[in-house]
Amino acid sequence: MAAREDMNRHGIGMTSQRTRERLLERLFEEGIRNLHVLETMRRTPRHLFVDEALSHRAYEDTALPIGHNQTLSQPYIVARMTELLLGGGPLDKVLEVGTGSGYQTAVLAQVVERVFTVERIYPLQERAKETLKAIDVRNVVFRHSDGNWGWPQYGPYDAILVTAAPAEVPVELLNQLADGGRMVIPVGQHEQFLTLVIREGDAFIRQQVEPVNFVPLLAGAIRS
Ligand code: SAH
Repeated sequence: MAAREDMNRHGIGMTSQRTRERLLERLFEEGIRNLHVLETMRRTPRHLFVDEALSHRAYEDTALPIGHNQTLSQPYIVARMTELLLGGGPLDKVLEVGTGSGYQTAVLAQVVERVFTVERIYPLQERAKETLKAIDVRNVVFRHSDGNWGWPQYGPYDAILVTAAPAEVPVELLNQLADGGRMVIPVGQHEQFLTLVIREGDAFIRQQVEPVNFVPLLAGAIRS
């Protein structure tokens, strides 16, 4: 009874609990093997990051609109990017560019020490802040600005995750990556590839992981 009340309080009934389990099975079938990531996605309430009218679709493995012409990434992509970022071991400071709904931020914040997240659209950032507070994720700091410039004040970062696609990896982000650090970023205009960049001193080793389809990384911050 207590568990059921708890689930209702979070606006989710038994049916969606089953849908959530199915999503986890699907992520595993698609090749996600990091148990920490899978477990985190199991307990992160994705339905709270979309409009109520869309919440019944929150545990499908699809991208969903979040307003302002932006989308919340498909769960598989969130899992894959987080897994790639963690590939080198535990992470302390992580920079995220493109907070959006805050769902990827929430997953990330539960598997690393601290997240510094940057978003250019102010209302999206405000909403993400509220949602993260509601689910008690506290190790995140937010900045409203153009993420092409990173967040130099707290760098260098052990890892950088970018959730919008530039034509080329922004130089400032490379500069703010610590030695040995990892960046996961979709790169390309017409054809995009999820790319893993590992810094070794002054060298940046790149690996194209798989084709993806992200919204573009745009320039400048906007208020509304
Ligand atoms: N990770 C998000 C989805 C992001 S969609 C989620 O889980 O919901 C991409 C996001 O990147 C959008 O919110 C968009 O406004 C933001 N974005 C695009 N260009 C940006 C830039 N230059 N700086 C910061 N954020 C940017």
